[in-house]
Amino acid sequence: MIMGSIGSNLQEVKQRIATACATAGRSANSVTLLAVSKTFEAAAVRAAHDAGQREFGENYVQEALAKIEALAGLRPRPVWHLIGPLQANKTRAVAEAFDWVHSVDRLKIAQRLSAQRPAALPPLNICLQINVSGEASKSGLVPAEPAELADVARAVAALPRLRLRGLMSIPEPATHFEAQRALHRVLAQALAALNAQGLQLDTLSMGMSADLEAAVAEGATIVRVGTAIFGRR
Ligand SMILES: *Cc1c(COP(=O)(O)O)cnc(C)c1O
Repeated sequence: MIMGSIGSNLQEVKQRIATACATAGRSANSVTLLAVSKTFEAAAVRAAHDAGQREFGENYVQEALAKIEALAGLRPRPVWHLIGPLQANKTRAVAEAFDWVHSVDRLKIAQRLSAQRPAALPPLNICLQINVSGEASKSGLVPAEPAELADVARAVAALPRLRLRGLMSIPEPATHFEAQRALHRVLAQALAALNAQGLQLDTLSMGMSADLEAAVAEGATIVRVGTAIFGRR
């Protein structure tokens, strides 16, 4: 990875977001760019931070904790988002080190995160992961069972040390724009349904390097971009 290209890659991705926002009639600052730094060294995160990037997404807890510690001196402080699977035995470390967790798919995990979130830190921001493609192999709550989703959302929203912000999806790859949009629309509709039932959720975490335009068209508020910023993994 050539560090010098990270800054220009970031500019290109921000331009893609701005163009997609303009097309959708949205303001460019309604979408937050999450730079997904999994498998890349702390030096790559530092280069992105030098270029003005503040929000970083990590998939693997052990790898992330090492990077968070290595970069503890960075100012302004990076905002760390966990976007990968979270097992119950890792919740304490995550509750102590991260600002957001996008991949909560069970109440039990949320309960542990709330109980373990240190009192000195603000509430942990949470998204519920939704399986929009319906593949049995994928993790996530199923929007086809809206009652169950609403029950979980209400229970998570009531936990004292968490702040339920919204929903996250990792759809199966689709090559055509309209197919990408259709998958992102499932998540947007699930969020609208929850808000119609009285929840106050403001976050749709969807869209990656290959489909961020379709995600912005369907209302994404956070796009998670790795390859287009840091290069191939
Ligand atoms: C790796 C990853 C991304 C980034 O994917 P790219 O295609 O590299 O942009 C986004 N979200 C999740 C959950 C990921 O695991």
